[in-house]
Amino acid sequence: MAELLRAEDQIASLARAFDEIVGAAELINTDDEHDPEGATIAFERAQVASLLRQARADRAALVRSLERIDEPGYGVCDICHHFIGVERLMALPAATKCIGCAR
Ligand SMILES: [Zn+2]
Repeated sequence: MAELLRAEDQIASLARAFDEIVGAAELINTDDEHDPEGATIAFERAQVASLLRQARADRAALVRSLERIDEPGYGVCDICHHFIGVERLMALPAATKCIGCAR
């Protein structure tokens, strides 16, 4: 349960980071082609867009893994039957072995 609460905290902070990136993208969303800074802004915007895609993918993966926690046997190691751990499941949502048994 503590692990689940910690994962929910991580979703919340990811959601905050996501909002900050969206806010930053809006701030630099000036589209002045004649501005000598234009190329820099376009580059920064591309970087923010890629961070945004990554944040969305991370959050989607986390939400998918949290949804699967309700499935019987999810998150339990096939070998030693201990909980695999939220961090490992976030990195590898399809993991069926704990880090000790996967080695
Ligand atoms: Zn194990």
